[in-house]
Amino acid sequence: MSAMAESEVSSLRRLPAVAAVLATAEAALLQQRHGRVPTTQAIRQAIDEAREALRAGASVAPSAMELAQRARSLLEAHAAGLRPLFNLTGTVLHTNLGRAVLAEAAIDAAVAAMRHAVALEYDLDGGGRGERDDHLRALLRDLTGAEDATVVNNNAAAVLLCLNTFALGREVVVSRGELIEIGGAFRMPDIMARAGVRMVEVGTTNRTHAADYRDAINPDTGLVLKVHTSNYRIQGFTAEVGATELAALADAAGVPLLNDLGSGSLVDLSGYGLAREPTVRQAVAEGARLVTFSGDKLLGGPQAGFIVGDRALIAQINRNPLKRALRVDKLRLAAIEATLNLYRDPDRLAERLPTLRWLSRRKVEIAAQARRLQPAVAEQLGDAFVVEVGDCSSQVGSGALPLDTLASAALLIRPHGSQRELERLGAALRALPRPIIGRVADGALHLDLRCLDEAEESLFLSALGQLDMDGLAAGTP
Ligand SMILES: *Cc1c(COP(=O)(O)O)cnc(C)c1O
Repeated sequence: MSAMAESEVSSLRRLPAVAAVLATAEAALLQQRHGRVPTTQAIRQAIDEAREALRAGASVAPSAMELAQRARSLLEAHAAGLRPLFNLTGTVLHTNLGRAVLAEAAIDAAVAAMRHAVALEYDLDGGGRGERDDHLRALLRDLTGAEDATVVNNNAAAVLLCLNTFALGREVVVSRGELIEIGGAFRMPDIMARAGVRMVEVGTTNRTHAADYRDAINPDTGLVLKVHTSNYRIQGFTAEVGATELAALADAAGVPLLNDLGSGSLVDLSGYGLAREPTVRQAVAEGARLVTFSGDKLLGGPQAGFIVGDRALIAQINRNPLKRALRVDKLRLAAIEATLNLYRDPDRLAERLPTLRWLSRRKVEIAAQARRLQPAVAEQLGDAFVVEVGDCSSQVGSGALPLDTLASAALLIRPHGSQRELERLGAALRALPRPIIGRVADGALHLDLRCLDEAEESLFLSALGQLDMDGLAAGTP
């Protein structure tokens, strides 16, 4: 054996054993907090990592205490993958950050449904079996003007279920201009194929006429589909057939029209200073026999997909065995019911529903908040960064109102040194126990404060206070 290999072996031998690490005070605490088995596992992993590092050329093996500390990081990282964070990206309905944040009433309702038995499928009047949908039916009828309603896992499921119920093995007519892809591999043509229907595209990308639909509809047509192109706009030389005309055309042919609204709002957003988005009530009034929309986009509730429309059609949907596979659980039903209930009191809706509260916040208010927080943030970040208050644009997100940005204000953080420092700061903020997520643009980290409620400001500052500035300086966030 060469001298080199011998020294490598001896340094490997100097790695503490699992028992030695378990005997440290730190490991005793970890066992109390996380349990014996997970702690032992984390220590083994820490030792494995250290062994790899030695093989790769590290000269000093970590001590038992250092290994225990590493085990703690591993355990903490495991402990809460879905832990709360501060969404300061400026995108209110951020799909990757869980879309809508729920209203307190919805949270309370979900918690109660977790903790206690509930009349999920039980008729409290008669004492017999009830239906899961009964809880929402009356509310949705009230809020949309539709005859009947049902709810499934998400809007993708709602569309899938409608296609499969009315056009399995048959044709669905849709405009080429509406064959959307939204994020997460939801492509209309793929959903059609999986629903077992044959897609019949009509018109061209930019122009589709009534005659195109009329020519395509035949006795084998199960459904006419209209898709709200929620995440893009086709502009210029364009033509589309409006929902009212299309509904009349489909009715004349004896085929139901499904209008997939995507986001679908239950209130007119122009009343809150936002761009107009078609409301569900409007889509129902225009004559579509079925309308589908999401629970966690503009509606501001939990993930869900709503189908509202003709009673006979909803009954047919409810008989489809797929409905059972796509249904929602009691937690979400409770949260949906509470969210919808808020819409019955429009005067206080924007106050109670975080999505609407944040979307309708005015820039002057956000700028004032930014000025209020700026000194504390600047002090925390120290000399390496400049913190200023600046303008920015927020987005609705989730593909809703794609061209509509909202004037907002942000803390703009710029490094004195290189961009590398900004990257390190971003990583350190993401590594916090309650991570802070911003957006990098034009060489600055933007913390858009639109989604930071005043009541959360002190939590935000104390989260920031946990930043490891020494680690940052040393380049090891
Ligand atoms: C978002 C969207 C969907 C999918 O809704 P999820 O609730 O995310 O499943 C379907 N159609 C349109 C037009 C959409 O915008």
